[in-house]
Amino acid sequence: MSIEYLENPDEIHEECGVFGAYDLDGNDVVSSIYYGLFALQHRGQESCGIAISDTNGPKGKVKVWKGMGLVSEVFSPENLETLAGGNIGVGHVRYSTAGGSNISNTQPLVLNYVKGTLALAHNGNLVNTPELRRELEYTGAIFQTTIDSEVIAYHIARERLNSKTVEEAVSRAMKKISGAYSLVIMSPRKLIGARDPFGFHPLCIGKRNNAFILASETAALHAVDAEFIRDVLPGEVVMIDKDGIHSNTELCTPKIARCIFEYIYFARPDTSFDGVSVYNSRIMAGRILAQTHPVEADIIVGVPDSGNAAALGYSMESGIPFGMAFVKNSYVGRTFIKPKQAMRQSSVRIKLNVLAEVVRGKRVVMIDDSIVRGTTSEKIVRMLKNAGATEVHVRISSPPFLHPCYFGTDIPTGEQLIAHNHSVEEIRQMIDADSLGYLEVERLSDMIGGDTGFCDACFTGNYPIDPPKEDIRGEFEA
Ligand code: SF4
Repeated sequence: MSIEYLENPDEIHEECGVFGAYDLDGNDVVSSIYYGLFALQHRGQESCGIAISDTNGPKGKVKVWKGMGLVSEVFSPENLETLAGGNIGVGHVRYSTAGGSNISNTQPLVLNYVKGTLALAHNGNLVNTPELRRELEYTGAIFQTTIDSEVIAYHIARERLNSKTVEEAVSRAMKKISGAYSLVIMSPRKLIGARDPFGFHPLCIGKRNNAFILASETAALHAVDAEFIRDVLPGEVVMIDKDGIHSNTELCTPKIARCIFEYIYFARPDTSFDGVSVYNSRIMAGRILAQTHPVEADIIVGVPDSGNAAALGYSMESGIPFGMAFVKNSYVGRTFIKPKQAMRQSSVRIKLNVLAEVVRGKRVVMIDDSIVRGTTSEKIVRMLKNAGATEVHVRISSPPFLHPCYFGTDIPTGEQLIAHNHSVEEIRQMIDADSLGYLEVERLSDMIGGDTGFCDACFTGNYPIDPPKEDIRGEFEA
């Protein structure tokens, strides 16, 4: 068996962004997908790709460009030119840790099979990949990548042999796969979007003139001047063909488990996810923190980017002025997702600098979205104190991370999470804060307007789907 298991399976998961476009008038969609991927870059910075076809051209002719790096690094005017001439396409941005970060695992995946060609882009993670993969391998499948998305593509291709349409094949495959998936799929004549029945990660539909768009976030619709139509429902399969949008909701159930961390951290603040504004959620998180963890202070500051809106909410609720204490270098990747501890430590100073004139001589409340291992928080508190802050009170707009995530994010296993083995007071001491307060789990619902259909498993251990028996995070990564 050529599959290689990583020594440390904790640092594996990807979170990704997907984008699809189909222009019914036959106009080129490559530039829309390119700009859409730019707007989704925060969801994955290690690789990206675009697959393009022409619904009026020969079936199965797909042009693909994929590579390691940011959208701005992978695509040039020259290679975008080679993709020109297609009115249907899908794109993907991917994050993974070092082990799985290689060119063969980039997406969209393009699969040739007896009924034509499929191009697939996936955000999320399956929990039954090993079983599905073994089943396929015992019946002769040979995998070209080490990602679970290929298992999905194979299942769709296989189901297609016994289905009248590709969208029916997607629905049948969805009955076998389990876990988190937001998919955009291109067949020779159709664009398909599908979301797992729990609706872990977002997927929305937009329209610009006669072009339909599918995107991970509404912010990506706005980036290409498309109008938001609606979210793909959890469990829904939407098919877009020359006649417009068609929907299949047979797999929709009332048991929804949206990833609450999308609102806290992953998604852009200018995105709405299932009718809830990410920005408003963060403001509300700050307001709740001000109610539950008040403190006398002179200024409220947020750690960019996701801490800013929460800091504003804290300020609005407490009446303490809001200030901008950090200058961020936007060209550095997120420290949260750097694969090695040494890299994580060194990148903090490069990423953030403190405006001493804002915090000098002041009692500061610093709002951040989370504490994972504690390394970053300790550095930032020290930076504020070195810049002259007399007190630094840390408020976190999420509950403490206690459990790993199996649904498409890289929240690691318990031992690596500072809150797993330490009390709040111990963490406060470790990061050298004057006080520390987290958002309570019980208030997460208030943060998103009272909705209760969300996943909070990384805080509570209440997994909406049983976690895999073996730790799949990292499995099959080469
Ligand atoms: S476990 Fe946490 S990060 Fe993972 S899907 Fe649930 S809420 Fe999101």
